[in-house]
Amino acid sequence: MKLHDLAIVGSGMGGSMLASLNKEKDVVLFEKDKNLGGCASTFKRFGSYYNAGATTFVGYEDKHIVKEIFDKALYIPDILESSVAIRVLQKDKIIDRVRDFEHFLEQINRAFPNKNNREFWQKIKELDERFWSLKKLYYAKYSLGSYIKSLNSFMVLLYKFKIDIFKSAKSFIKEVLGEISKEYKEFIDAQLLITLQTTSKDISVLSLALGLAYPFHKVFYVNGGMGSLFENLLKDINLKRKEQILKIIKEEDSYRVISDKDEYLSKNIVLNSSIYNCSELFDNKKIRNYYQDFHFSNQSAFVINFNLNCNEEFFHHYQIILDKEIPNSISKSFFISISDKNDKKMSNKGLSVTISTHSKASFWENINTQEYEKQKNITQEFIINAFLEHFETIKKEDIINISSATAKTFKRYINRSNCGGRPITLSNILQIPSCKTPFKGLYNIGDTVFAGQGWPGVAIGVKILNEEING
Ligand SMILES: Cc1cc2nc3c(=O)[nH]c(=O)nc-3n(C[C@H](O)[C@H](O)[C@H](O)COP(=O)(O)OP(=O)(O)OC[C@H]3O[C@@H](n4cnc5c(N)ncnc54)[C@H](O)[C@@H]3O)c2cc1C
Repeated sequence: MKLHDLAIVGSGMGGSMLASLNKEKDVVLFEKDKNLGGCASTFKRFGSYYNAGATTFVGYEDKHIVKEIFDKALYIPDILESSVAIRVLQKDKIIDRVRDFEHFLEQINRAFPNKNNREFWQKIKELDERFWSLKKLYYAKYSLGSYIKSLNSFMVLLYKFKIDIFKSAKSFIKEVLGEISKEYKEFIDAQLLITLQTTSKDISVLSLALGLAYPFHKVFYVNGGMGSLFENLLKDINLKRKEQILKIIKEEDSYRVISDKDEYLSKNIVLNSSIYNCSELFDNKKIRNYYQDFHFSNQSAFVINFNLNCNEEFFHHYQIILDKEIPNSISKSFFISISDKNDKKMSNKGLSVTISTHSKASFWENINTQEYEKQKNITQEFIINAFLEHFETIKKEDIINISSATAKTFKRYINRSNCGGRPITLSNILQIPSCKTPFKGLYNIGDTVFAGQGWPGVAIGVKILNEEING
């Protein structure tokens, strides 16, 4: 049997970026689904295309890791910068998250007047810029060399930012902005939920800055759907689509990889499947135990897709913040992405819309089919009604081909019911899994390992892992 250099399990952001950086090697990549990209894939239904989860492409700018990786892969994506990254609608307020700082400040001062708004948002922007200018970010465990390199990287972080960045975000907000209104707090928390999967209550100042500052970067719309990025990143890769890996057996200097179609042998193996699902792939007790130590994150997503029969021009992204919690969710807000009118593929049958909010995987488990459908409809209807209330020109009958996805749907298609990484805090930093495992030649990549979710977070992990594999 042929011995591959590298076998990658999963075509999510992590697996695909890593594969594209290693084109010259003998790489084989397995994807269980027919669509590439996992949480960021694009699927076809009713003759129309929809983004399954991720819709915003961030980090494609000079000196940023995401662009570095795409440049190395010699791939220039077909993207369009969104003039307004996100239009936030909160009761009677409209707040445009735009890249231009002064323009944004006008918006925030109008919505939430506070004499220290400039100081607060300036600090957020500066911390974020300094973080992304760091050249030597590293995090790995399980060897003395890795611990020393990680400590060194941590010291550089401390030296550049001082201990202040590990202070609690909550106290930082209070210190700079004073007592803020419930609405202002809900605005900040809703923005953080999109990027960090959590609110300001249990994160550090650094996480707060990275979470809030992302619309100060260029935010792009991807023509042809987010999934098209993966089709192109993996163009020259030996790709085994619709092939699920069922078992991995550790041999002396290699791994035997068993799929539902065939068997393969590889020196190195990178798992892009969620870390919470890795133990079941192994019979080796030590490896199983290693993966079982990472406790399942219950965080998940509820996503609605539909077409909009409408000739109006919309922004690409909106966030609606309500004053009550959405049923079967852990949020009062939802995120809307609307395909560009000129995107021939995505807007072929009316505009393609993806709406998402935060839910828990456990909400959808241990209920019978009837109850599951009932709860799904309750959540879908609640969100659609709130959507229609905020877009008065859209009528209910303009919405066609509607479908919703829960944690169960994600599990069925991409083998994970949790969605989104965990925010890194000072108290959990050592519990965060690194790409490197204690087993030679076995690695993980993606948003359930360092550094976190979305294009920028996953790309940090890819850069570190690529160095790890290639020296
Ligand atoms: C609703 C939602 C909205 C989001 N919005 C954004 C956004 O706008 N911008 C952004 O940057 N990020 C966004 N994110 C976050 C981002 O999508 C994820 O962090 C990222 O896509 C995760 O990538 P990953 O590398 O962990 O791989 P995953 O997306 O987890 O993909 C893993 C892949 O592995 C495959 N796989 C699993 N097990 C096997 C197996 N045994 N054999 C073969 N294949 C297997 C799966 O089918 C899947 O394709 C969003 C996430 C969600 C859920």
